[in-house]
Amino acid sequence: MTDPFFQPISGFDLPRFAGVPSFMRLPHVPLDHDRLGDLQIGLIGVPWDSGTTNRPGPRHGPRQLRDLSTMIRAGHGVTGFRPFEAVNCADLGDVAPNPADISDSMARITAFYDQVRGAGILPLTAGGDHLSTLPILRSLAKDAPLGMIHFDSHTDLFHSYFGGQMYTHGTPFRRAVEEGLLDPKRVCMIGIRGTAYDTEDRDFAESVGIRVIPIEEFHARGPDDVMEEARGIAGSAPTYVSYDIDFVDPAFAPGTGTPEVGGPNSFQALQVVRLLEGVNMVGADLVEVSPPFDPSGNTAYLGVSILFELLCVMARARADGRV
Ligand code: MN
Ligand code: MN
Repeated sequence: MTDPFFQPISGFDLPRFAGVPSFMRLPHVPLDHDRLGDLQIGLIGVPWDSGTTNRPGPRHGPRQLRDLSTMIRAGHGVTGFRPFEAVNCADLGDVAPNPADISDSMARITAFYDQVRGAGILPLTAGGDHLSTLPILRSLAKDAPLGMIHFDSHTDLFHSYFGGQMYTHGTPFRRAVEEGLLDPKRVCMIGIRGTAYDTEDRDFAESVGIRVIPIEEFHARGPDDVMEEARGIAGSAPTYVSYDIDFVDPAFAPGTGTPEVGGPNSFQALQVVRLLEGVNMVGADLVEVSPPFDPSGNTAYLGVSILFELLCVMARARADGRV
């Protein structure tokens, strides 16, 4: 299976601080490239944060994530799995957003993912704020609703903001359920915490059968037990994984717009993704990295480490022919 064209550049050949920083040092394969049809997994940037209701910045996420992704090596440190030898992966570039128009940006994102899906490629996305996930789901769930495992401090299930604005990063999964993109009985939200204005989001979750695992339950039960339940909720049908970096405690991931204290540490942040093994992932994203709030790059480094864990689970599902 190993195709030399799709191998990442090794730090033994070119120092990791040198060269053009594509995701994980993979080749850049834009949608009109003649090798597009040979890909199984594509990494995509969505530099867009027009859905942000509080502190902005995730429009700068993909660029900093690409830079820090040069730290990632080809083999997994715990399992030894080598995803780039199991499936062909590449950096598909960025979706070009329209920062002045939310609905046009969403249409552009959906159109981009329609092309990716049409080429038989599973997308792994670096956001962008969490509204980015809605137009991705509009493409991936065209034929049938998906299950979803969602790591976040927030449910992102609110109805609207500011007197009727339906499209913000606090509302994507309310819209996704309303539009039939998600099967709420196969959705599990993990890590929910923080002060609240009201319980409208949690009431909605309960009314449609979304399983919410708040942070106190996560800490009490531990990652193994919680993730066993999450895998059971997703089942064997196609499932999306959406990972908001604010799931992680802000001591480890300060570079985000809406931090909430009392979260998992950086080890647990990776462990929960490793425990997704066996889930039939048809796509995943890592969103809400805001470089202006962490110019050190530590948050982005954790973000790309999470992306690598997600890639390993997806690559195994794809190599096994499950997705
Ligand atoms: Mn979120
Ligand atoms: Mn959040």
